[in-house]
Amino acid sequence: MNKKTIEDVDVAGKRVLVRVDFNVPQDESGKITDDRRIEAALPTIRYLLDNNASVVLMSHLGRPKGKPDPKYTLQPIANRLAELIGREVTLIPNDEKNPLARNQAAEALQPGQVALLENLRYTEKEEANDTLYSQELAALGDIYVNDAFGAAHRAHASTDGVPRVMRNMQKTAVAGFLMQKEIDFLGGALNNPQRPFVAILGGAKVKDKIPVIESLLPKVDKLLIGGGMAYTFYKANGLEIGKSLLDESSLEFCRRVLQEGHGKIELPNDCVVAPEFSNDAPRTTVKVAEIPADQEGLDIGPETIARFADYMNGAKTVIWNGPMGVFEMPNFAVGTKAVAEAMAKATENGATTIVGGGDSAAAVEQMGYAERMSHISTGGGASLEFLEGKELPGVVALDDK
Ligand code: AMP
Repeated sequence: MNKKTIEDVDVAGKRVLVRVDFNVPQDESGKITDDRRIEAALPTIRYLLDNNASVVLMSHLGRPKGKPDPKYTLQPIANRLAELIGREVTLIPNDEKNPLARNQAAEALQPGQVALLENLRYTEKEEANDTLYSQELAALGDIYVNDAFGAAHRAHASTDGVPRVMRNMQKTAVAGFLMQKEIDFLGGALNNPQRPFVAILGGAKVKDKIPVIESLLPKVDKLLIGGGMAYTFYKANGLEIGKSLLDESSLEFCRRVLQEGHGKIELPNDCVVAPEFSNDAPRTTVKVAEIPADQEGLDIGPETIARFADYMNGAKTVIWNGPMGVFEMPNFAVGTKAVAEAMAKATENGATTIVGGGDSAAAVEQMGYAERMSHISTGGGASLEFLEGKELPGVVALDDK
């Protein structure tokens, strides 16, 4: 990575302002239902504390609509973090009318102590990338660290404004360990992949994946396409797809990309269809040329699974984004699970395997394959934009090596 990391700066005795992604899922009572995002930030937090820095963490949580709302307080996260690191974690108020309270709380921190700023989105100035708010936040630290890959595709105050202000003040803005890991894996695969390099894309809409298809196609050796979006490709090929998902506006793109793909694109040859969108609907496996008019394709079929698994087994780099079928319904999760299994085997055979964030990451975690992948991205939108070849504002804003 060409950006500085926390290992490139001396943090001892400094106050370090760290943007983390603590936007965790919670139940109705506010209980955290999945704390992986907190866990993912621990290496950076522990490193800073062990190296005698004092740490001010900042994150957004949900969408509090630009004003304080107890439903979106970070207090449960401060509590969970305190348990995980075995130290007290103070919650610093984030009150627009009293910015001094923020400064006083941050200044009171001693080396080895950690505090968490209340929800960054308690003011609309965060998403507006407001300069004054960025300056106020920048005053909370001597060094800025961004470890929130999941928010790096947004140019908000905490991801863009603050590091810029700090760099203008000759302060340092660097990447944390999680950010570094994400960029090393995703960037390594895109820019310097071990070959064969296979990408698998799925999910619902072709339209959402057009930029990533355009970006990956010249780089990969094979592009396997499954999920709901495959049906628009069939349609573009002149096949009847019954009631399956169709993204009419992307037909022309599919036609063009199939021609330009020079045989790199592999589509499913069989699929599992059902008369309605329901887990209990009767399932039939058919060839893609034989989808009945009154049925819809909800998963890839066994021949496709075997073919896709073969490509993955022979690969040295595999990137996956998007489920192969309606994996939320167990009867149509077979293809997605099989791809996770094939990818896990590829890892065991020495391939670098990367799961993009969002639905495919959730599926891999849910199905118990998380430990068997080289890397699972913590950023849904961010990993997709990275794969699209876009520069992420939260990365651009950091100091170059
Ligand atoms: P995306 O957000 O575009 O990655 O799409 C993820 C969604 O695609 C998931 O909710 C899946 O249920 C859905 N999906 C995958 N395959 C199909 C399919 N064959 N028909 C309808 N929806 C699908």
